[in-house]
Amino acid sequence: MIVDLRSDTVTKPTPAMLEAMFKAKVGDDVFGEDETINQLEEKTAAVFGMEAGIFCPSGTMTNQIAIKCFTQPLDELIADQTAHVYRYEGGGIAFNSGVSTRLLNGYRGILTAEMIEPEINAENVHYPHTSLVVLENTVNKGGGSCYTLEQIKPIAALCKDKGLKLHLDGARIFNALAYTGDKAVDYGKYFDGISVCLSKGLGAPVGSVLLADKNTIKYARRIRKVLGGGMRQAGFLAAAGIYALDHHVERLKIDHAHAQILAEALGKASWVTNVLPAETNIVLFDTVEPAAIVSEKLAGHGIKALPTDKNRIRFVLHLDIHPEQVEYVAGVIRSLAY
Ligand SMILES: *Cc1c(COP(=O)(O)O)cnc(C)c1O
Repeated sequence: MIVDLRSDTVTKPTPAMLEAMFKAKVGDDVFGEDETINQLEEKTAAVFGMEAGIFCPSGTMTNQIAIKCFTQPLDELIADQTAHVYRYEGGGIAFNSGVSTRLLNGYRGILTAEMIEPEINAENVHYPHTSLVVLENTVNKGGGSCYTLEQIKPIAALCKDKGLKLHLDGARIFNALAYTGDKAVDYGKYFDGISVCLSKGLGAPVGSVLLADKNTIKYARRIRKVLGGGMRQAGFLAAAGIYALDHHVERLKIDHAHAQILAEALGKASWVTNVLPAETNIVLFDTVEPAAIVSEKLAGHGIKALPTDKNRIRFVLHLDIHPEQVEYVAGVIRSLAY
């Protein structure tokens, strides 16, 4: 049996999703004429209580466009040191926006208003102008850790008070909502920008949507074009996103239950020294032996997993992992010895 736990990006479209893609009505989106893309953008904006949306090829692009929209060159943004926008987007903050990054040490990637406030630069020519805070929910490097809306509210209030924009990297926002029970529609009140990935836990093959007010999205269309992200009959892809929003949100709690089962098995394993709490669909754990050796042992049993640090491995649960596979992996975890 092959069980691919490397990422929730490895999922393949289901037959029903493919059928929805085949049937999509499309047009040239650069002319604004792809009705399926228009529908996806409007639908996603409505889900989060935002005015407008723009469909992009990747979450990296939606984040980078948001940063460009909310900053000027020479500005500084504030993010946790584990942030995807900083670590895994190729240095795009400096390259695309000419902006520096102030990195904070949150708890599993989670920041508070108290941590952020002293890092906002005073008005002084020596200092870059702080103009943006970026939060991630769930936090990838935090092992799928979540903000509740109650935790976000004081940060949003601080940003408003200090004139900063607030952007959410919501690559796994629906996982966070499944865990916290917060309502998606309330998010629009607190963020200036929200990036929603369709190709992670939701299981679409491609795409992310950036949400913001109408003016920001109008400018975002210019930036997307400059980055080469103006697509044509991409409604076939947007149709997969619409299908995912309609059919793959509720089921995320299954992935979370699967993560719990694996975290529990890992917690009892002699070859594991520490398991981070698995609130959502990611399980991070530390191993006695180097992660590279352990991941090879797992691969020998058909289990694919990514070492994320010298002694740390990541399992990510998703749509294509079925209960029998979870049982199988739990069995292998119990059988391995140090
Ligand atoms: C995957 C991911 C993104 C977007 O990545 P793409 O591969 O460019 O779609 C952004 N933020 C986080 C936290 C992610 O995990």
